[in-house]
Amino acid sequence: AKHNGRKQLNFFQSGMDGYASQRIEMENLLRNAVENGEFELHYQPQFDLHSGQLIGSEALLRWRRPGIGLVSPLQFIPLAEETGMIMPIGEWVLNEICTQSRAWLKKGLKPLRIAANLSARQFSCTNLNHNISTVLNEFNLEPEHLELELTESAAMQHVETSLKTMHALKQTGVNMSIDDFGTGYSSLNYLKQFPIDRLKIDQSFIADIDRTPNDAALVAAIISMARCMDLKVIAEGVETDEQLSFLRMHGCNEVQGYLMGRPLPAEQFGEYLAQV
Ligand code: C2E
Ligand code: CA
Ligand code: CA
Ligand code: CA
Repeated sequence: AKHNGRKQLNFFQSGMDGYASQRIEMENLLRNAVENGEFELHYQPQFDLHSGQLIGSEALLRWRRPGIGLVSPLQFIPLAEETGMIMPIGEWVLNEICTQSRAWLKKGLKPLRIAANLSARQFSCTNLNHNISTVLNEFNLEPEHLELELTESAAMQHVETSLKTMHALKQTGVNMSIDDFGTGYSSLNYLKQFPIDRLKIDQSFIADIDRTPNDAALVAAIISMARCMDLKVIAEGVETDEQLSFLRMHGCNEVQGYLMGRPLPAEQFGEYLAQV
């Protein structure tokens, strides 16, 4: 029995080793990716639904892996978050947004609000506020041209701490939005205390607006609730005219999605900006 027990233990441990070494390998790959400049940001436009005006953009991370091609953030953000590699990556993202923003201003383009996705770990880092002020200062950018997107689940994780962090961030003048709204569990009581500018309705609800009455009802309810709370509401993942007219009919303020524009590499997005 003893022998068997050990055997099993060994088997279990070697499984763990495999997993652990895979993680370490991936962590190293990500670390090198930052150092070798293998990351890039793609920018997706956001529009006011009524005027049709471009009002901002979201920066979306891509990993251009040598020999492999573009890797979606869905494939490496979770591990980056677990291993802590999200910290240098997130810092790179903020720095890159500011670098790009400054470059576009220098070209004479109108200032545009750019939204960065914040991971839960970044959000709970005590240096966040300081890092953001520092990078804005360094590139001489107005805080209102930066927006931080925090997922609903990250915001609701440690809600009292979130409140403090958000209020501190708000002091710096940056915009804040709650991302993937509707997928987590929000306490309305807290939601109304968050000093946020907008709610982003998760794209999964938008996708099924036409087919699923429940989703349509939910989207309509989120929009009217947001209006009552004096929050802007943006719908993401808008792909069809039907979705767009539903959103317009229900008073949604802003939209983002393939129907209006796909995420573009910085250079192409800059050319696009020069035309609008
Ligand atoms: P998200 O923040 O919810 O971003 C929206 C995702 O929907 C993006 O996927 C975007 O490319 C995609 N999308 C935009 N319009 C449409 C549409 O009309 N239809 C459909 N089907 N999809 C649309 P992406 O770029 O693959 O990013 C996936 C997720 O990775 C993001 O979801 C976000 O959670 C995370 N992410 C992206 N960039 C960063 C980053 O810099 N930092 C962190 N921490 N997370 C990031
Ligand atoms: Ca987002
Ligand atoms: Ca989202
Ligand atoms: Ca999402």
